[in-house]
Amino acid sequence: MDIQAIRSQFPILDRTVYGKPLVYLDNAATSQTPRRVVEAIDNAYYGHKANVHRGVHCLSQEATDAMEAGREAARRFINAPSTDEVIFTRGTTEGINLVASSYGQLLDEGDEVILTVMEHHSNIVPWQLLASRRGVVIKVVPILPDGSLDLDAYRALFSPRTRLVSVCHASNVLGSVNPIREMAEEAHRHGCVICVDGAQGVPHIKVDVQALGCDFYAFSSHKMYGPTGIGILYGRRELLEKMPPYQGGGEMIGHVSFDGTTWADLPYKFEAGTPDYVGAAALTQAIEFMEETGIDAIAAHEHDLLEYATPLMMEIPGMRIFGTAPGKCAVISFLIGRAHHYDTGMLLDKLGFAVRTGHHCAQPLMQALGIEGTVRASFAAYNTRAEVDAFIAALRRLAPMLQ
Ligand SMILES: *Cc1c(COP(=O)(O)O)cnc(C)c1O
Repeated sequence: MDIQAIRSQFPILDRTVYGKPLVYLDNAATSQTPRRVVEAIDNAYYGHKANVHRGVHCLSQEATDAMEAGREAARRFINAPSTDEVIFTRGTTEGINLVASSYGQLLDEGDEVILTVMEHHSNIVPWQLLASRRGVVIKVVPILPDGSLDLDAYRALFSPRTRLVSVCHASNVLGSVNPIREMAEEAHRHGCVICVDGAQGVPHIKVDVQALGCDFYAFSSHKMYGPTGIGILYGRRELLEKMPPYQGGGEMIGHVSFDGTTWADLPYKFEAGTPDYVGAAALTQAIEFMEETGIDAIAAHEHDLLEYATPLMMEIPGMRIFGTAPGKCAVISFLIGRAHHYDTGMLLDKLGFAVRTGHHCAQPLMQALGIEGTVRASFAAYNTRAEVDAFIAALRRLAPMLQ
């Protein structure tokens, strides 16, 4: 992989902050965007902006074609059987809300949903809303000391009332990659469906929803080099067909009358209102960027950075790293000495390093770890060993102040 050729596609990487070169290590929050994605947005606005699916005119047809090409690119990217099963959303959060809200209507009081303690708030709160609406009970899988999921505890949580499992593909804090295929098999053995929060999956792991055996898979474009404001929910056709619509409005109907309304076919049944057709066109470019670079090559490069950085970080006095599961994604959550995560992050910022600090939208996980927050460095395709060296040097310099 030619890192310099990749970096040259991301103009933002040339900028400075406070007169220092930017080292962007907040990729788990959002990744940067290559020129071709921004150009696709420009082209859509300057060249063929028109509402989709409604007009007979040329511009509308071009906008529709660009959006449907984005759907096909997303289908291919996750190997979904059909574009009918690929729904445009605003992101992972909306995808999970769609499942909790719509599939949730098929659940009864006392039915159980299994989550894990490492979930992002967007894979907790929608289920809590469902619990308060329908009396559904939430059960939580704990983690082992290295940050991997306790699979024995997972198996033991199933009861005759369990109906659904919702779990992240990878943790945005610990980096742990969950064994989705095995978890799906277990869920299916108990007659349950499994929903996967793929926000940290697709940017780093080659995803094949059929091989994983998952029933739903939600992800966000902005964490995989794409535009913000758009995401994908994959859902298995037979489930989507029996689920009620999530929102009502234009595009999602067959026929509307005050005597009764019918729904559009999949996937439009779940896409009320004018979709983000510009975002869909730009998402195509993000997917093609990842495919051309090679998802396995990106993963191997990020893994190299992780393996390089981790032992160097461990040499820093007072360093604690949270999440050491084998095969983890390139996310390093840490604390130094008694320093507050926020102070460490602010000092790093002044030196040009963009890292995340805080609870990372995973407060239950922070409670389980007995901490309030961490500093998090996360890597993407364009990060380099030289950046890791600079980061380690900065941590060494700051460490005496942080004990
Ligand atoms: C970022 C993230 C989300 C939420 O994604 P949005 O793009 O904010 O909807 C959910 N889960 C995980 C694991 C994440 O990292």
